[in-house]
Amino acid sequence: MQSLEALTREASALASNPMNEGPIGFAMTPAEGEVSRIMQVCNACRYCEGFCAVFPAMTRRLEFGRADVHFLANLCHNCGACLHACQYAPPHEFAVNVPKAMAEVRLQTYVDYAWPASFGSLYKRNGLTLALALAGGLALFLILALMLQGSLFPSAVSSHGHDGNFYAVFPHSVLALLFGVVFVLALFALGVGVRRFWRNEEPGTLSGAAIGEAVHDVLTLRYLGGGHGKGCNDADDAFSLARRRFHHLTFYGFMLCFAATCIATLYHYAFRLEAPYAFTSLPVLLGTLGGIGLLAGPAGLLWLNLKRDPQHGDVAQRPMDRGFIALLLLTSVSGLALLALRDSSMMSLLLAIHLGIVMALFLTLPYGKFAHGIFRTAALLKWSVEKRRPGALLVDD
Ligand code: SF4
Ligand code: SF4
Repeated sequence: MQSLEALTREASALASNPMNEGPIGFAMTPAEGEVSRIMQVCNACRYCEGFCAVFPAMTRRLEFGRADVHFLANLCHNCGACLHACQYAPPHEFAVNVPKAMAEVRLQTYVDYAWPASFGSLYKRNGLTLALALAGGLALFLILALMLQGSLFPSAVSSHGHDGNFYAVFPHSVLALLFGVVFVLALFALGVGVRRFWRNEEPGTLSGAAIGEAVHDVLTLRYLGGGHGKGCNDADDAFSLARRRFHHLTFYGFMLCFAATCIATLYHYAFRLEAPYAFTSLPVLLGTLGGIGLLAGPAGLLWLNLKRDPQHGDVAQRPMDRGFIALLLLTSVSGLALLALRDSSMMSLLLAIHLGIVMALFLTLPYGKFAHGIFRTAALLKWSVEKRRPGALLVDD
């Protein structure tokens, strides 16, 4: 049996060879080559086997081609545990930094599998400045449109103002069509990308048990527990469940807001119940709870992002992370302000600002940080299917 050191030298030589090819025949990029090299070291070491799904998935492989590298990179939740546990982490000459190498490949996954392909480069430009500029530009456009109509302030419309009715400012049908089309297009673009990712290396046949396990792992964010349930490493080697909790607040806050919108649409079209709805009604209660979650979650994630150890992940992607977090935060702040002041003369102005921000969020969904949740879900499902296949090792046909 080869020693770990000999395996590492072999892996380094493979990774530095520009003609290094994966099983599907394309030369690897430096980022892919680095994950391939590190996985060969880890496969000899296996110390971190119980930390997350990456390591058991790794042990089912003898070599790491492009498809394997992208699968494993998206299975990694960037918890940082294996970096702090690793005896071969920098400054050791093996320079094993799994979370950083995986993060760099994840960005490449989003770019390579983007639909349309020419939009893939947007992932590299989708930073904080672009997010704020897009939201500001769209909000300004809506404000100017209302000014030209003379309906920016309700006193110009009637003595009663808009009575808290958003659809007196922008008709419900126009909003539903505009936002519905953009949201469906965003999901379609992500869906095409994930389908390509799935087909890159078919894991086997889907089963109810595999789907159930993947859904459970996604909804509980099992792998942000660090393998022992104590959580991630953020600024140092101390464990914390903060990142899992802030992710949960963000995700479930988003889902509650989405549910509130769907129920309001049902009220409007199916039951002919028109807005504004009482503060105690189901859409408003769900929207308020969701807005609070969407405020606390992204605020916490931004705080963690600012203090995160630069060795975790890829610092070049932080503008993309922060752009997405900023849009989520602005969505909740403007939404809650709109609800609180819906009966005031500020309602039209706040509505235009809120809609501009939400539209910027929807437009950037398929080409920004949101993609990590979609590709990671697909990777978890792949792993749930793959682990149920008989035989310990996967070999290329
Ligand atoms: S990250 Fe380090 S300690 Fe963990 S399996 Fe890889 S080489 Fe071993
Ligand atoms: S950073 Fe965390 S999730 Fe990623 S491979 Fe290491 S232990 Fe697994």
